[in-house]
Amino acid sequence: MTKLNVLYEGKAKILYETNVANELIQFFKDDATAHNAQKLEIINSKGIINNYLSEYIMNFLGKKGIDNHFIKRLNSREQLIRKLNIIPIEFVVRNFAFGSIIKRYNLSKEYKFKKPLIELFLKKDELNDPLINDDLIVELGWVNRSQLEDLKNKALIINEHLVNLFSKINIELIDFKIEFGKTVNDNENKLILADEISPDNCRLWEKNTKKNLIKIYLEIIQVI
Ligand code: ADP
Ligand code: MG
Repeated sequence: MTKLNVLYEGKAKILYETNVANELIQFFKDDATAHNAQKLEIINSKGIINNYLSEYIMNFLGKKGIDNHFIKRLNSREQLIRKLNIIPIEFVVRNFAFGSIIKRYNLSKEYKFKKPLIELFLKKDELNDPLINDDLIVELGWVNRSQLEDLKNKALIINEHLVNLFSKINIELIDFKIEFGKTVNDNENKLILADEISPDNCRLWEKNTKKNLIKIYLEIIQVI
């Protein structure tokens, strides 16, 4: 396996081409962003932690039947993944109201949704990732109506698995964001889970103290 040119550098990761067709290397950076890259900071070793956690979660979901792009971890910062054509839609699943949705609809903080709620956002930094609805997604042609329904169902199943996983270690999954992509090799044209699942795109709280785990982590790295 040889690492070749940079295919894409994003806010949190760098994708490299490799000498194997349709396989990429995903490198995890320490850069942290909030409010769509308006605020930038470096969190020591964040990339390493996210690489290991995402490996664990992708393998865990794979065993539960959720196909995803993860192939194997190469080292502390890099993993081998299947190259996909990413659907530029962020699937946000919410168990409790927190973050942007509170302001948008004036909801009370920590409101628990009776049923997990999905919101879809267009992945476009220059437009600040606006909320988008099913009709416009289908109109713009990334997926058809039934594929979109399948992806939303998949997002809810992933939520159930993650809620159970985190509950076991006394962590509440408030909300999270995932991306899907189309496989590019052969004619299978499957839609599978992509990107990463890590504290960068999950809001995780310690159940008893209701403390945000990222804040706990930041406090720890300040004293070591
Ligand atoms: P961004 O700032 O665009 O969110 P990231 O720093 O998260 O970028 O880097 C990962 C980028 O790679 C994302 O744009 C994501 O959509 C894309 N990506 C994730 N998984 C794959 C994959 N398997 N194949 C191709 N692109 C991917
Ligand atoms: Mg990203």
